[in-house]
Amino acid sequence: MSDSVQGHPIPPAGLRPVQLVLATANPDKVAEIAEILGEGFELSPRPSSVPEVIEDGDTLEANARLKATAVADATGLPAIADDTGFEVDALGGEPGVRAARFAGPDASYAENVTKVLRELERAGAHGPEARAARFVTVALLRHPDGREVLCEGVVEGTIAPEPRGEGAFGYDPVFVPDEGDGRTFAEMPARDKHAISHRGRAFRALADRLTSS
Ligand code: IMP
Repeated sequence: MSDSVQGHPIPPAGLRPVQLVLATANPDKVAEIAEILGEGFELSPRPSSVPEVIEDGDTLEANARLKATAVADATGLPAIADDTGFEVDALGGEPGVRAARFAGPDASYAENVTKVLRELERAGAHGPEARAARFVTVALLRHPDGREVLCEGVVEGTIAPEPRGEGAFGYDPVFVPDEGDGRTFAEMPARDKHAISHRGRAFRALADRLTSS
């Protein structure tokens, strides 16, 4: 096991955990990332004194960098941010980086899902093969001196003909992962989802990079 990541010391097991600040203030996301990263990391949410960043980058990496840099600069501590896109092949990769605002600037999750289903219908994309899609997450750790560690997580799947499941987060009700058993993400318990999810993969890769040589 290495004792540094690009010069940033990682303490051996049993010593003080690595302190990281997250660019999100959402307690659910903080808890989820803490569970994925596991022991050895002490995470704090974005302090209320640091305003939310406008995510106007053209890429997931640019948006993650905007968010992590704002928090690292304001706190003087290493900061982690993530950004997720949703790519639908039959829509030329849309909504992509605009996943949160596909149906408009203040679109609800349901409105975004409805727009994807409508546009697939319009494109004549019927059957799983014509409805391939993927989630992509970029997780980025930024040190106050500008050094970075960047990891990506991807999950491939297809768009279901109509929404299924109780969980209503984002595009979960219409995303059927290829590695699953036919359930949408919204029909799966969080633990099953994050074992194969884009965000689970990106943050596990980041944890591996921070704790191994
Ligand atoms: P963010 O970058 O994590 O804020 O994600 C941007 C948008 O992508 C969200 O508003 C959701 O619409 C969608 N999204 C992100 N992660 C997921 C997921 O795990 N399931 C479903 N939709 C997601």
